[in-house]
Amino acid sequence: ETQKETLGFQTEVKQLLHLMIHSLYSNKEIFLRELISNASDAEDKLRFAALKDDGLYESDPELKIRLDFDEEANTVTLTDNGIGMTRDDVIQNLGTIARSGTAEFLQQLSGDEKKDSKLIGQFGVGFYSAFIVSDKVDVFTRRAGAPGEEGVHWESKGDGEFSIEQVNLENRGTQIVLHLKPDAKEFANGWKLRSLVKKYSDHISFPVVMKAESDEGEKKDEYETVNDATALWTLPRTEIKDEEYKEFYKHIAHDFEDPLTWSHNKVEGKLDYTSLLYIPARAPFDLYNREAPRGLKLYVQRVFIMDDAEQFLPLYLRFAKGVIDSNDLSLNVSREILQNDSTVESIRTAVTKRVLDMLSKLAKKDPEQYQKFWGEFGTVLKEGPAEDFSNREKIAGLLRFASTHTGESTQNVSLDEYIGRMKEGQKKLYYITADNFTAAKSSPHLEVFRKKGIEVLILSDRIDEWMMGYLNEYDDKQFQDVARGDLDLGEVETEEDKKHKEEAAEEHKDLLERIKNALNDRVQEVRVTNRLTDSPACLVVGDFDMGAQMKKIMEAAGQ
Ligand code: ADP
Ligand code: MG
Repeated sequence: ETQKETLGFQTEVKQLLHLMIHSLYSNKEIFLRELISNASDAEDKLRFAALKDDGLYESDPELKIRLDFDEEANTVTLTDNGIGMTRDDVIQNLGTIARSGTAEFLQQLSGDEKKDSKLIGQFGVGFYSAFIVSDKVDVFTRRAGAPGEEGVHWESKGDGEFSIEQVNLENRGTQIVLHLKPDAKEFANGWKLRSLVKKYSDHISFPVVMKAESDEGEKKDEYETVNDATALWTLPRTEIKDEEYKEFYKHIAHDFEDPLTWSHNKVEGKLDYTSLLYIPARAPFDLYNREAPRGLKLYVQRVFIMDDAEQFLPLYLRFAKGVIDSNDLSLNVSREILQNDSTVESIRTAVTKRVLDMLSKLAKKDPEQYQKFWGEFGTVLKEGPAEDFSNREKIAGLLRFASTHTGESTQNVSLDEYIGRMKEGQKKLYYITADNFTAAKSSPHLEVFRKKGIEVLILSDRIDEWMMGYLNEYDDKQFQDVARGDLDLGEVETEEDKKHKEEAAEEHKDLLERIKNALNDRVQEVRVTNRLTDSPACLVVGDFDMGAQMKKIMEAAGQ
């Protein structure tokens, strides 16, 4: 038996606790959703582990979550008979935050509660939200299958440290006792708790039970189920309210904000699966971290199998969240099997299309919301043309660009809009790339386009030039970098323009020769152009040479 030990929270946890308590007090009630969500995950994990070892059920096979309260003692207690935690698990899970990049993320916090409470949405609140309403939290937990003596009691006031001791626990799973703050007394109330369970946790897969109450509010001895307890995605679409879709999203995505949109589909026939896919409203802080968790939650015949199943979505759609419930896969399926399984491949193809369609629909139905999506995830979607050849046209239709038409740096022009504004005789889709918007916008390459009133897309994200290497055409029209090669303005360029250029070339032959000699090997060719109206000269990249932006990226990479 070990002594009671006191340990300090990791610095990041301290910061998060502080932030949460100060920025979420007007949103106190979400603690219950977070704790029930964790309990539900723990039940899922037990059921999965028990597929291989049904001894883990011990003598208690009925998975459920119990919610009790004591008005006198001012406590709320949540008990699950899920997987439970070992002592090491507890120290790891309830004392640290493992996600890399957390420290840097927390550094951006401003102390401005409104801004910070938005930021916390990128992070998810989780277990620590218990301290929004509690001045002390007790956790009693025992890992399924471990002997009773290996129970653990964790205790903290949320003020920088926690204590941990070994205790004897007869039941497996986790019990969390919240000692409510004086200003959170309202939660030690049957009616209040019931309504919160209905509101936030109606459609988790497990029953939440509470002591039945008489009409006078007297507690009876027996327990009753207070939520619907059927997994949301198994219900017909017509029976699900928007609010329920939103709450379910928060449960599976560990997000704090409503999703932008979702798509729920039951597929029968050659493949038999249900997908429920969501687009978050906000990018997580570690969107560009290669190790950050991504992927869908995988169920097989309603049984939870794993979180973060990456195999069902391409990398460029890694922001999508959701659930896949397959009737074709085996309950024994592992990450390795997912790697090269033809069923998974087919589901992935279909799900990819679903996500792209969901985005097209959002763009049509609600351009403002789509713009919000683009602001958060646009640069990720730009990885699409390179990664997913077969969907290039679809992805291109979803791209948004800054353009000389608006003259603003906001990326909000679609290719369809651009095409709708094309000049009579214009055949190509013109674009310019540069390090930043201002440089691009003031480029001499744009002079002739201004003169002719031809719109040019302005690309200045780091990834743009690389992306354009994979996008040759859209709607049967070719893309043309205005800074490349011999500029072809199609029929917009008049015969007169052409004649003028030829005459000038003849007339200034000697001058061109002298400039070429003076510049020596630094240029390949010096020629007369119609490109410019005000500037005397500009540099042009060859059709097949690496662009300026790309060159810089390669140089930075030491190549
Ligand atoms: P998240 O749920 O996003 O992983 P949380 O802060 O809610 O983050 O929980 C942290 C971790 O603590 C969980 O991932 C899980 O490993 C563990 N945990 C929390 N509650 C329970 C529980 N009731 N039973 C078992 N493990 C739990
Ligand atoms: Mg959680």
